[in-house]
Amino acid sequence: MSMSPAKHAPETCAFCKGAGESGGRRCPACCGRGMVTVAQPAKRCALCNGTGRLCIKGCPACGGTGWMGVLRE
Ligand SMILES: [Zn+2]
Ligand SMILES: [Zn+2]
Repeated sequence: MSMSPAKHAPETCAFCKGAGESGGRRCPACCGRGMVTVAQPAKRCALCNGTGRLCIKGCPACGGTGWMGVLRE
């Protein structure tokens, strides 16, 4: 009687659009991987509309990834 574990899948980082870098520096949202691990079904961040960019440091709700439920390692 156990709940099935939440499913996660890689999604493209919105902050760097999968490039892994932003402005010549390692992307702070995905740590340079270009992808982030997101709980499925993936939901875009409502605060930044999935862009990851709300201010210069990125969106505080999604950490700049553009997704909700991002698994941090
Ligand atoms: Zn990124
Ligand atoms: Zn956001």
